[in-house]
Amino acid sequence: MQTSNDLKNLLERIDRRSYPAYKDTRGAYRFGDYVLSIDHVQGDPFAAPSRVSVRVEGKRAGFPPELYRTDCRRVAVQDALTRRFGRLAAGASFQAKGSGHSGLISLSRCGQEVLERTACTLNPNSGEVLLRLEVGFPANGRTINARELEKILFVLLPRCVSEALLYQNWDPRELNAAADLAEDQDYIRKTLPQMGLCAFVADGSILPRASGVSQLPMKGAVPFRSPEALSVELELPHRGKVTGMGVRTGVTLIVGGGYHGKSTLLKALELGVYNHIAGDGREYVITDPSAVKVRAEDGRSIGRADISMFIRNLPNGKDTTRFTTEDASGSTSQAANVVEAIEAGTSLLLMDEDTSATNFMVRDALMQRVIHRDMEPITPFLDRVRWLYEHQGISTILVAGSSGAYFHMADTIIQMDRYVPQDITVPAKREAALFPLTGEHPEPAREPDFDRRLKASQELRDGRTKVKSLGRDGVSLNRENIDLRYVEQLRDGEQSAALGYCLRYAHRHLLDGEKTLRQVVKELEQVMDRGGVAALWEEGEGVPFLARPRTQEIFACFNRDRTLKLAP
Ligand code: ADP
Ligand code: MG
Repeated sequence: MQTSNDLKNLLERIDRRSYPAYKDTRGAYRFGDYVLSIDHVQGDPFAAPSRVSVRVEGKRAGFPPELYRTDCRRVAVQDALTRRFGRLAAGASFQAKGSGHSGLISLSRCGQEVLERTACTLNPNSGEVLLRLEVGFPANGRTINARELEKILFVLLPRCVSEALLYQNWDPRELNAAADLAEDQDYIRKTLPQMGLCAFVADGSILPRASGVSQLPMKGAVPFRSPEALSVELELPHRGKVTGMGVRTGVTLIVGGGYHGKSTLLKALELGVYNHIAGDGREYVITDPSAVKVRAEDGRSIGRADISMFIRNLPNGKDTTRFTTEDASGSTSQAANVVEAIEAGTSLLLMDEDTSATNFMVRDALMQRVIHRDMEPITPFLDRVRWLYEHQGISTILVAGSSGAYFHMADTIIQMDRYVPQDITVPAKREAALFPLTGEHPEPAREPDFDRRLKASQELRDGRTKVKSLGRDGVSLNRENIDLRYVEQLRDGEQSAALGYCLRYAHRHLLDGEKTLRQVVKELEQVMDRGGVAALWEEGEGVPFLARPRTQEIFACFNRDRTLKLAP
C-alpha cells in the first residue's frame, strides 16, 4: 500500500496543474494510525465534493467490545463518533481559499435522533472504525491548489481522527453513557407490549421544541407529568427506575383546548420510534417502533390500493379495492395512508385532527339525515377505529379538538390542560353516554387486499440511475421526484437518499412482477441487515451519506413512486 509520503509527493507534483490531475490521487494511503482512502475525486471544483474515507484498525482504535456488542449500542457509539468528528472538522474553521467547493469539508449533520448512518461504522466483529467524509478539493479557478489540500489531509484530518476515532482520547464515561442510554431506550420499546402499552412518556420529559425551525428543547417548558391513573414504573437496565405515562393499547384520545399542547404530545410520540440523544428532553419518550403517523395528503398518487374499508361506490364508478389515482383527495389520500400503514405492518396509528380530512374522520348525525348513506362513499375512520383494534390489533392515538364522537370509541381519554395531561376517561364517558351516537350501522369491514405485484421499470433496471436526495422533502430517480414531505416520521435527508437507493436496488434486483411489496421490502431489510445501509450502494467505493430508514418509510416511499409498475 502507498504511504502518506507517496501522497505528499504526488500532491507536490500535481500542484498548479489543471484540475483533472487530481484524479491521480485516487487510492489508499497508510498514515500513522489509519488508512486514508480517496474513493472518488470530483471532476471540477464546482462538482459534488470528493469522497474520502478513513479506516482505523480495531486494535488501534481500541473501542472496547461492550460499546458495540449489540446493534443499539453500536449505533449510538457510531453516532457519537460522527458528531464529535463533525464538530472538530467544523470547529477547525479551516476554510481553504479558492473556487467552487474548495476546502469544504462535510460529513453527516446529525439531528436529535440517533440513526444508523454510512458516515461512520464500527465493525461489530473486528472493531474497525470507518469514517466517511466529503472534501472539496481546492483550486484557484481550475488550477489545482494542492498546498491547501495538503493542509486538510495532513494537518486537520489527523487531528480529527485522533480526537474522535481513537478510544484513548475519549472520556470513557461519555461513550458508555451514550450506549447505555440507547440500550435503556430499546429496553423500554421492547417492554411496551408485555405491559400492554403502545407508548411511554417519562415524567420530566420536555416535549416542545425551541421553535418551528429548531429541534432543540424549549427552554422553560412545562415538564411532562403523568396523570396518576396512567402512571407506570419501569426498571431500566442502566438508569434504574423511571416513572411516566403508559399509553395502553386500544383507542386513545387526546383532547383539550386549543394551544394546550395536544399536537406537541403527539409529535413527540411520532418521533418516539427513534432514539434521541442525551439532553433532547425526549430521551424517554418511547413509542411502538411500528407506529405510523397518518394524515391527509391531497395530491398524492395512489397505485391500486384497496381502500374499500373506507371508501366504496364512488360516483365515477372507480373500483376502490384497487384504487388508482394521480391526484388523491383529502379523504382518499388519508384512507390510502391508513391502509398502506397496515400493509407496512403497523400496530399503532397516530393521527391529529389538525392534519386530517374532516369527512374521513366523522359524519355527524345531521349530515347523516340530509345526505343518505347510499349517497356517501365514505365510511369514516370513526366507524373503523374499533374494528382495527379488535380485529387487527392496531391501536390508535388520536388528537381531537373539535369532534366529540370519538369519546364513544376511546378506551382512554387524556385531556391536555395547560400542557399537563389529565385522565378524564370516566367523566368523559359519562357525558358521552348522554349523547349516544345515532344513525347508521357501517357495513362490516374486511381486511384489505395487499396482493399487488410489482414490476421493474426497464429504464431503472438496465440503465444508469441517478439518485438525488431532495433533503427531507423527498428523493428523485432520474429526475422523477418522489414527494415525501407528508411522510412525517422521515427525519433526515440521508434517509430520503437511502429510500432512493432502496428503490433503485429493488428495480435492479427484486421487482420481477411476482413479488408483492411486502416481499420486496422484506428482502431490502435483509440486504441492509447483512451489509448495513451501505449495501444499497452497488458502485463499490465512494458510498454516499445514507441513513437507514424504517420499514414503514420504505413502504411509504414505494407507495408514492409514480413510476412504479404493477403487474396486471
Ligand atoms: P394544541 O395542539 O393543543 O393546539 P400545541 O401542541 O400546538 O397545542 O401547543 C401550542 C403551543 O404551546 C406551541 O407553541 C408549543 O410549543 C407550546 N407548548 C407545548 N407544550 C408545552 C409545554 N409543555 N411547555 C410550554 N409550552 C408548550
Ligand atoms: Mg394542534
